Amino acid sequence: MTEKKMKRVISDEIDNIPVRRESARKYIGASGIGSECDAEIAFGLRGFPNNSISPSLNRIFQEGHRKEPQIIKTIRDAGFHVNDKNNFGRQHRFSIFNDHIVGNADGLIEINGKPYILEIKTMNDNSFKSFVRLGLEYSHKKYYAQVQMLMNLSGMDNAILVAQNKNNQEFHDEIIERDEHFIIHMMMRIDRILRNDVTKRSVDESDYICRSCFKADVCWQGVLPETECATCMHSEANDEVKWYCNKHDKEAIDVCEDYEVYHPKSRVLG
Ligand code: SF4
Ligand code: SF4
Repeated sequence: MTEKKMKRVISDEIDNIPVRRESARKYIGASGIGSECDAEIAFGLRGFPNNSISPSLNRIFQEGHRKEPQIIKTIRDAGFHVNDKNNFGRQHRFSIFNDHIVGNADGLIEINGKPYILEIKTMNDNSFKSFVRLGLEYSHKKYYAQVQMLMNLSGMDNAILVAQNKNNQEFHDEIIERDEHFIIHMMMRIDRILRNDVTKRSVDESDYICRSCFKADVCWQGVLPETECATCMHSEANDEVKWYCNKHDKEAIDVCEDYEVYHPKSRVLG
């Protein structure tokens, strides 16, 4: 074995550790609502599987999850009261429309006697600097949409996003006020998606958004979801019966012979 090869003995084996694939969520999550593509949100609502991810990207996600409790501890050490668990010892979860729209908050925090949604992010140096320079709404539209959705679901008027720079451990935070105009637009968009009025943002997979989309494999490569009413073309999210079958005018529970895999409308140029 050459020295060069020996240098990669351990790292190759580390990359061979199987990536535990989390089962795809089956709802519109606050963290995804800022997507630039309605189809990505619709695939998420119906529980279509995510692309498989590389071992290194998986480690980046794991590291982000590991960091959260440490950052909460640091905020507490700085003298703030953070409530990161509900009465059942779980993450604060808010939902509407029969759990089709869900937001999980990293915590609730009290500042000068006022409650805020607390959202925590770790960012690389460029991303962090852009947050500091431009503010959340202009630097990180997805995070801005996420905190607005959390405020909408929880009925709270204020949120604070605390970010830590992964390169030098520096902190920055910003208070975000409830933006009613933004929320109305967001909810109108969700309403369209729930009614299956959904078009792909791109005409093909070369679009830069598609290249980083977690649903690209189901969107362009024909990867199939589980066969169930939620992934059927004829079903629609419903506030009372979860999924409603528009073909048979009844609650959609059991897959039937008319199953057709869901697909959003293709984008037509011109
Ligand atoms: S791959 Fe592209 S078109 Fe398909 S869901 Fe993702 S962003 Fe939308
Ligand atoms: S009942 Fe049949 S047609 Fe209706 S949603 Fe389920 S699989 Fe589709």
